Amino acid sequence: MIRRPVELLSLTLLGGWGASLLGSSEWAPVMGCLLGATLWILIDNIRAARVLAWLRHGNASRAPTMSGVWEEVVERARKGFKVLNRKARKSEARLQEFLAALQASPNGVVMLDRNSHIEWCNFTAAQHLGFDSKRDLHQQIRNLIRDPAFIAFLNKGDYSKSIEIDGRDALPGHPHRISIYIHVYGKGRRLMLTRDVTALEQAEAMRRDFVANVSHEIRTPLTVVTGFIETLLTLPLADEERERYLRLMEAQAHRMQGLVSDLLTLSRLEGSPIPGSAEWVRGEDLLQQALNESRALSDLLSGGQHEWVVVDSPSVEVAGSRSELVSALTNLLNNAVRHTPAGSQVRVGWRMLPDDGVEFYVEDNGPGIAAEHLPRLTERFYRVDRSRSRETGGTGLGLAIVKHVAQRHGGQMLVQSTVGRGSVFSITLPPSRVLTTA
Ligand code: ADP
Repeated sequence: MIRRPVELLSLTLLGGWGASLLGSSEWAPVMGCLLGATLWILIDNIRAARVLAWLRHGNASRAPTMSGVWEEVVERARKGFKVLNRKARKSEARLQEFLAALQASPNGVVMLDRNSHIEWCNFTAAQHLGFDSKRDLHQQIRNLIRDPAFIAFLNKGDYSKSIEIDGRDALPGHPHRISIYIHVYGKGRRLMLTRDVTALEQAEAMRRDFVANVSHEIRTPLTVVTGFIETLLTLPLADEERERYLRLMEAQAHRMQGLVSDLLTLSRLEGSPIPGSAEWVRGEDLLQQALNESRALSDLLSGGQHEWVVVDSPSVEVAGSRSELVSALTNLLNNAVRHTPAGSQVRVGWRMLPDDGVEFYVEDNGPGIAAEHLPRLTERFYRVDRSRSRETGGTGLGLAIVKHVAQRHGGQMLVQSTVGRGSVFSITLPPSRVLTTA
């Protein structure tokens, strides 16, 4: 601090002394002093200008070399710059962490300014709404989401509920539904959260259909049974007629029993863990057990007039749940009995697949199934011939069960069918569940 006055004084005195040596006038020292002081002010101003220029545009690490008081000014400013830079870097890093967290969010996030321009959005939101997360920045959101329901929702400003709109992948017959929540924050800014609810909506629709279908399936036999009970209670019937009614009631009760049993099977399949590989079952045993049940059904429905051909197949053992695999094969065999006329041939067996997996097949030469029905056969309660299915005790759940069992064992259910020639239903199992035994 003391340096500046000393510098000024020194230059002033130096100027005065120099002038007194050179000049003869008595004003010469005074003029010299003035000149020295002016020189010092000039030098000081140049230093100040350099420091100012550095402060305005300078880089903290390229501070000008100064002496005296300016050295201290520069040093303090440099330290201040460093602290500020460190803080700015920290803030930037935190901001990037927050943005990375928002990017990782399973929900779409869009930040809107007070004029509804997009300030930032993550990839998920861009995917849901068809935005380009870079190109569409600062765009007015109303220009990008043109759904009138969304625009009304945005304009109304009441964001207590969410809204659902079509997502960018929505096509006729291919729904893509996005729910949007808006939260207000800061000064009129809005945070928009998006969620893909397509699967949720589809599951809800399936649940509704399922409940409606089950109710319908149970109500029909129940109506028949109640009708017969009323008749039996009110009319004096001959023994023979009474017996006939009771038989009809029994059939309807069996139908309900079958339905409940299939429903329980399905719910067990959905709720239980995937079968392990600890239990190994011989292919012959599986088929034999299933055949016993289906032969009995053929006896019941067509007096046993189906021709059974058990094709000679390689010896294998398969890993999985015996009861599930038997139930799946029985369903396929029973279908071959129920959906083909008496006298039809049913060929059953299994073959090795190129990848060392195995395929159990049930082939009939019945009426076959038209191609448009094939993709829907495993839907619950889907039937090609509704009345035939009912008459033969079908529940419409058999193939859904087969598909589930196959998938739980890592395989799949396959169908090939030609109208007028017959059908082949099969279950494949992956090599990890198959052991060939010579
Ligand atoms: P269902 O209890 O009605 O047999 P499934 O789910 O087992 O229900 O089968 C669905 C539909 O697939 C049946 O209603 C029937 O129309 C058709 N189907 C199944 N197997 C055969 C087959 N072997 N031949 C012809 N149609 C079949």
